[in-house]
Amino acid sequence: MRTGQEYLQAIQDQRTIYLNGQRVDNVTTHPAFIGITQTFASMYDFAAEEENGMQYLTEDGTVANKVYMMPRNRDELRERREAIEKWAKQTCGFVGRSPDHVAAFLAAFASHEEIFARGGERFAKNVQDFYKKARDEDLFLSYVIIPPQIDRSKSAHEQKEDHLPVGVYEERPEGIIVRGSQMLGTSAAVSDYLFVSCIVPLREGDEDYAISFVVPINTPGLKLYSRPSFAMGKPSTFDYPLSTQFDESDCLVVFDDVLIPWEQIFVYRNIELVRAQFHESPAHIWGNSQAQVRFVTKLKFLIGVAKKITEMNGTDRFPQVQEKLADMASLAATVEGSLLASEYHCLDRNGYAVPNPRFLYGVVGMQESMYSRLISILRDLSGGGVLQVPSSYLEMVNPETREDIKRYIRSSQGESTEKIQLFKLAWDIIGSEFAGRHQQYELFYNGAPHVAKGYSFRNYNFQETTKLVDQFLGSYRLPE
Ligand SMILES: Cc1cc2nc3c(=O)[nH]c(=O)nc-3n(C[C@H](O)[C@H](O)[C@H](O)COP(=O)(O)OP(=O)(O)OC[C@H]3O[C@@H](n4cnc5c(N)ncnc54)[C@H](O)[C@@H]3O)c2cc1C
Repeated sequence: MRTGQEYLQAIQDQRTIYLNGQRVDNVTTHPAFIGITQTFASMYDFAAEEENGMQYLTEDGTVANKVYMMPRNRDELRERREAIEKWAKQTCGFVGRSPDHVAAFLAAFASHEEIFARGGERFAKNVQDFYKKARDEDLFLSYVIIPPQIDRSKSAHEQKEDHLPVGVYEERPEGIIVRGSQMLGTSAAVSDYLFVSCIVPLREGDEDYAISFVVPINTPGLKLYSRPSFAMGKPSTFDYPLSTQFDESDCLVVFDDVLIPWEQIFVYRNIELVRAQFHESPAHIWGNSQAQVRFVTKLKFLIGVAKKITEMNGTDRFPQVQEKLADMASLAATVEGSLLASEYHCLDRNGYAVPNPRFLYGVVGMQESMYSRLISILRDLSGGGVLQVPSSYLEMVNPETREDIKRYIRSSQGESTEKIQLFKLAWDIIGSEFAGRHQQYELFYNGAPHVAKGYSFRNYNFQETTKLVDQFLGSYRLPE
């Protein structure tokens, strides 16, 4: 099992990342990335400690991280969920693309290698070999599977110029040259490898864009353009506890004629297989169940903050406030309940256990309104307290100001420091740039809202509902 130190060493390489007009020299020391790399390092250290229960014996007799499991029954699904939850707790659910997300996709691909074999046996072997490598080396993969936002009314080959989304530019004996771009690599800057494909439906004529491959982040020609950092320039972790530790970054990924050796390719110029890899294998479902485990943890954390705020402000005994907390609890319980139901009613797919998509996607379809509703309640319960805090911890130590801060920023229960700490955390959830990015993340990480609802629509089984109605309608007739 990989240690945090090994992870940090591995990502100090020649990767090309641009931020604020400059190339990032070393992600492990750069102020934009140091917090998140330290967070991931501590997650690896946690998993490497056997007593933390994150390890399992693989089908090949090796010891690996449970996030790479290919669950075969309900018990193994539970085991995997508990491991994912342990990691999610380390980031309070605020890191979306931790290594367990794409690990789920790789495990699912390897569990259904015959899908890839439909494009040629060598591709099935590539999938299997890479899965084992990633699992045994405990690799961190991020992914980009969405074409850049240019003209959504046109498919890949209909765009104004060729190779705006990433596609095959040239075929060579040793591999393919890919050119173009893809959005939006969350955590890509601090991962080992990138998985690249296209989950958006492709049309006839898009064959050059119908590919799927893995590539090390430090490959020549691969460039990452990061959005602004939310960690940089903050006075301290006390002031911005989430921004400084959990800003996983999002990057536009540019492929400037990148050579992808054949062994790293899973699907080659095959529209049908690009779709099948996600939806005929359990990839999309296993990936989304990981995402829901993280989401449940995040919702519980939000509720914990809300509850503590009301206790500190002495509002927790007001019935109207309890009602608002109850709203939060009901929403969170619905998500958690659906997650557990999807596991309990899991399906067998070729010998592998798959969470029931009806329940899993049922909550995915509600995510659009769910997160913003909880944030809105937390905002409501916080009042102006989140802005009544000093600009930074420095006013709490400066002899000229500290007595005023201590006297006037306090609560019914806690000391001044505790109140400021809690309310600064609340602001990082509801008001900071980091907070805004999280609202965007929960809305879009699984595709635009209409896409997420589409999964719910397709997986519900409406036949069961119409049958109920038909039965009832059949029980009475037009009067004679
Ligand atoms: C914070 C964040 C992190 C992300 N991380 C990743 C990542 O790690 N890897 C990755 O691959 N992707 C990632 N994404 C990208 C994400 O998958 C996309 O944002 C998502 O697929 C939606 O695409 P889009 O943003 O271009 O929105 P669009 O597709 O442009 O949709 C925007 C809006 O336009 C309207 N619209 C667009 N098309 C239609 C249509 N056909 N019918 C009706 N209405 C339509 C809808 O109102 C929709 O909500 C991330 C996104 C965000 C915001």
